[in-house]
Amino acid sequence: MVSSPHSFDFPPYRPPSEAQSMLLRVTHGCPWNKCAFCSMYRKYPFARKTMAEIKADIDLMPEVYGTNANHVFLGDSNSLLLSAADLVEILEHLYRVFPGLKRVTSYARAKTVMKKSLEDLKVIREAGLTRLHIGLESGSDAVLKMVRKGATADEIIAGGLKSKDAGFDCSIYVLLGIGGMEQTMDHRQGTIRVLNAIDPHFIRVRTLTPIPKSDIAKWIEEGSFTLVTPLVSIEEERDIVAGLNVTSRFLNDHSSNIVPLDGKLPEDKERMLAALDQGVAYCKTHEVGYADYRYL
Ligand code: SF4
Repeated sequence: MVSSPHSFDFPPYRPPSEAQSMLLRVTHGCPWNKCAFCSMYRKYPFARKTMAEIKADIDLMPEVYGTNANHVFLGDSNSLLLSAADLVEILEHLYRVFPGLKRVTSYARAKTVMKKSLEDLKVIREAGLTRLHIGLESGSDAVLKMVRKGATADEIIAGGLKSKDAGFDCSIYVLLGIGGMEQTMDHRQGTIRVLNAIDPHFIRVRTLTPIPKSDIAKWIEEGSFTLVTPLVSIEEERDIVAGLNVTSRFLNDHSSNIVPLDGKLPEDKERMLAALDQGVAYCKTHEVGYADYRYL
């Protein structure tokens, strides 16, 4: 039995947009854990929690977070792996303890969403899971294969569309620079295709930051992967924004990004393109290195 707030099981990661949310861990780690650019869960072997452990954490949440917060993020990396029955039981308990909840979100792999029946997804949505954060990274099949994402572009489209059909807010993540200099054009074109096909509610952008000893860091050392320059990173994003025909909110809401952006498409497209053009012009007239990324 859990007896103090100190034993509350906090998820190690959450999206920036969940900074004010209560965090509830329903699984440990990532069941895939193979993506070459990601080391977030390498030291957390995937494990399920018992329903009793999850409910004990929910019972502790008012003590840990107070009673005013009305958003919850479920960790770790792919809560949709749980059965619909388990997720409904968790959500029902959560809403029993916090009847005023307005938003409950989770990371989800597109392939897991694709494999779940629409009926199950709708049941989970009706029980109160409202938003799925889904990693696309790139819409290029060659890049997805290289980084071992474990899903093709079409599978990610299918997962994204199914999440919307089931009624979820769909939040898709793109990783600038993930194709390196070698595949930047394929990365741009594929990503535009996938985003236009899904038309998600949110598009959230991050910039590749190679972690020491990661596969990507090794590829850079061996010379098979060339990190994009700050200029190319902004040009990549400019091409992607220019090619979008969506109704999404588009955000650079991560510290890895060079140019801050937050706008609704298509209304704010010209403003966002102008901001990216300014970034391009700055890079062309200044010596901008990787260490300067955050100072533009
Ligand atoms: S990017 Fe997502 S699916 Fe890939 S290893 Fe990291 S957490 Fe797992």
